[in-house]
Amino acid sequence: MKRIGILTSGGDAPGMNACIRAAVRAARAQELEIFGIRRGYAGLIRGEIGLLDRKAVANIIHQGGTTLGTARSPEFMTGEGRTPAIENLEKRGIEGLILIGGDGTFRGGTALSQECGIGIIGVPGTIDNDIYGTDYSIGFDSAVNCALEAIDRIRDTALSHERLFFVEVMGRHTGFIALESGIAGGAEELLIPEIPFSVDELCSHLERSFKGEKKSAIVVVAESGQPGDSFRIAREVREKLGLDSRVCILGHLQRGGSPTARDRVLAGKLGVAAVRALVAGKSGYMVGEMNWRVAYTPLRDTWEKKKELNVELLEMRMLLCE
Ligand code: ADP
Repeated sequence: MKRIGILTSGGDAPGMNACIRAAVRAARAQELEIFGIRRGYAGLIRGEIGLLDRKAVANIIHQGGTTLGTARSPEFMTGEGRTPAIENLEKRGIEGLILIGGDGTFRGGTALSQECGIGIIGVPGTIDNDIYGTDYSIGFDSAVNCALEAIDRIRDTALSHERLFFVEVMGRHTGFIALESGIAGGAEELLIPEIPFSVDELCSHLERSFKGEKKSAIVVVAESGQPGDSFRIAREVREKLGLDSRVCILGHLQRGGSPTARDRVLAGKLGVAAVRALVAGKSGYMVGEMNWRVAYTPLRDTWEKKKELNVELLEMRMLLCE
């Protein structure tokens, strides 16, 4: 193998740059040429491909977002759309491709690996952490810490005004960010899609707390695919209990910013592992980290299988908010 490519696709996540940097350095150490593909699959289709040298990845380790750019590409979802992408890779003699992204990116990668003879390795980069085959995805820890900082700040004002707050965090259809930021921030209640809840149930918990010693509380809500649902929940709580509350939706704030040390180290580890996997002739896998070790999961499994929340964390949370 002499030439490989790398792209970032789908939602950006802090730590993607650290991963690109690690892959470039690892590739160069193996005397491989590495090409950066701009704007994900959209750029691959259009041939936006350029050689990455050492300088191209200097001073990016601390930057959020992705210096390669990212995009959503509906075209890539069809075989017809993928044909020019494959031709562009072949034209440049690229024999291996690293895809940094989430489950959509890996669906695309699975299709690509079936249609061409190029080695394909995925690296999990998404703040949502909803990828099967890795304990953590790149960007998750930074997003959790961002949400935590917001929860801490909101607690100051919740305490001062003796008020109920709903803090809505990202996570697409999962409660990973909500669970970890909620535990770390000492949230009184946690509403996540994995655990069905009713507003009546929430009201009875809140009623009990506010009749006791509590004068303020924070409810962390996972957005569950539909941002803004916290407004409805807050309204229903107000109608039922007469409790005044405020809603704070963190939204895209959680996607930006400098990656945490944990994300940078993970990104470095997986960037190097991806290059090594390609050199070893592996294809159609995602490199992840499980129990501190690099783990290889078939790309198809990463999006077909469902990653479960950590049961120990769930149990611990129940105990801590009693
Ligand atoms: P993420 O990778 O963060 O989950 P998306 O779901 O937007 O982000 O997916 C990124 C890109 O992957 C899409 O814009 C599309 O080009 C490609 N993709 C997603 N799903 C498929 C699919 N079923 N087949 C082929 N390509 C796909």
